[in-house]
Amino acid sequence: MVDAVVVGSGPNGLAAAVVIAREGYSVTVLEAAPTIGGGTRTEELTFPGVLHDLCSAVHPLAVSTGFLPSLPLAEHGLEWAWPELDLVHPLDSGRAGVMVRSIDETAAGLGADGPAWRRTFGPLASGFAEITDDLLRPFLHVPAHPIRMVGFGVKGLQPATLLARRWKTDEARGLFAGVAAHAIQPLSRPTTSAVGLMLVAAGHHVGWPVAVGGSRAITDALAALLAEHGGTIETGVQVRSLRDVPPARVTLFDVAPAALVAIAGDALPPRIRKAYVRFRHGPGSYKVDLAVEGGVPWAAAEARRAGTVHVGGTFEEIAAAEQAVHAGRMPDKPFVLVAQQYLADPSRSAGDIHPIWAYAHVPHAYAGDATGAILAQIERFAPGFRDRIVGSHVRNPAALEAANANFVGGDIGTGANDPLQVVFRPRIAIDPYATGMPGVYLCSAATPPGGGVHGMCGANAAASALEHLRSSGRRQAAPAPPPSR
Ligand SMILES: Cc1cc2nc3c(=O)[nH]c(=O)nc-3n(C[C@H](O)[C@H](O)[C@H](O)COP(=O)(O)OP(=O)(O)OC[C@H]3O[C@@H](n4cnc5c(N)ncnc54)[C@H](O)[C@@H]3O)c2cc1C
Repeated sequence: MVDAVVVGSGPNGLAAAVVIAREGYSVTVLEAAPTIGGGTRTEELTFPGVLHDLCSAVHPLAVSTGFLPSLPLAEHGLEWAWPELDLVHPLDSGRAGVMVRSIDETAAGLGADGPAWRRTFGPLASGFAEITDDLLRPFLHVPAHPIRMVGFGVKGLQPATLLARRWKTDEARGLFAGVAAHAIQPLSRPTTSAVGLMLVAAGHHVGWPVAVGGSRAITDALAALLAEHGGTIETGVQVRSLRDVPPARVTLFDVAPAALVAIAGDALPPRIRKAYVRFRHGPGSYKVDLAVEGGVPWAAAEARRAGTVHVGGTFEEIAAAEQAVHAGRMPDKPFVLVAQQYLADPSRSAGDIHPIWAYAHVPHAYAGDATGAILAQIERFAPGFRDRIVGSHVRNPAALEAANANFVGGDIGTGANDPLQVVFRPRIAIDPYATGMPGVYLCSAATPPGGGVHGMCGANAAASALEHLRSSGRRQAAPAPPPSR
């Protein structure tokens, strides 16, 4: 018997495993896929030597705050790289909103809207460490920094449509629409500002970096750290029922709540099972990875220097696209997120062939073909772009879910960011990681603080699991077999 089994090797599963292993407990991770990493995998999908991030690409939260930056991951090969410009939002006029790490430079570029940009984000960026200290934990706790939290809450609880009234220009309004749309919710809903505020504040605090060699470097480093502390990982092991889990004193599941219902069945208390079944998933995503000769010929010159480009036009257009996908309709002009990681990390390109990462928000489990609409949106702001494509790889919501069961219906956040679930996920509880089964915890992005590569869901769940381990007796010997990776 080991002390802990973790099911799933996404960033949260591995974060949980590291927290427990560092305390001297024996840990085994079981992963269904042939490779570790969940939403941080990187592969050559289109062209020899061109490296594509299959899922996550840009990592302001992994580098800035919370658990991951506290680990010696650089010693295990993790290196961050920053593009010249963090985020560019092109408009039909050829102009663009530009966000860089310096709030002064960003504000200066936004002209008349600069002072309001600085007033809105300045206090959040300067107090980012304190704010995230509270925000990356379950909601029901005594805040460590109550004044900062009130300041954040007053703005964050607002719908993005309301907060955006602070700005008049399409550049500033577009920039904010793009970051708020990371919530993948109608922008008229309360709390959609919170996601935008966090991402902009993180941008002004540390920028929006990428991992050198691809996002897989993040979980490769976590896996190496885990091995250093004696933890083991087995890939190709799909857990379908509790019988598939080796005996352990605690078990942590980096899975969606409904998946845990399927695995644990009647072992879950009925009230918790009901809450997990009711847990809501959000709209889907539709991923297009491209190999592009010479890069994307953006009309706005700034976009040619940007790590991330938000493609969707004005605030109103993006709001309409997000409203449509939420209502189950595929918009003609979807909101498309583009990343050009190679600008910060040239090791991902093969000569003049560069990887372009793009995905659009689409209705939940959308089964149609969104490729044309995505390419047309990019072409709209980069005439001649389609002629430069030399390779492509497309994954619709079903393909995303087939590769990773946590992306239910293509929901890349493992749970809708609706107003209730932004605050309480997967259910209302003081310990939202507890499942009601003694020693069994959920640690995926379906738990607080939600989606993204930050490892905090795993680290928080592991803290609960450690309490159980400490209160329930002796450590187990580490299992004999070496890591199978
Ligand atoms: C297209 C796309 C773009 C994204 N962009 C970004 C971005 O730029 N920045 C960012 O921060 N985040 C981004 N994300 C989100 C991010 O990838 C996720 O929020 C994050 O990976 C969640 O981590 P996790 O550990 O909770 O789960 P996951 O990373 O989903 O990992 C779960 C793991 O558990 C395994 N598993 C599931 N069920 C079982 C089972 N029954 N038995 C065994 N193993 C199982 C899965 O195979 C998977 O490996 C993106 C996601 C996608 C899909």
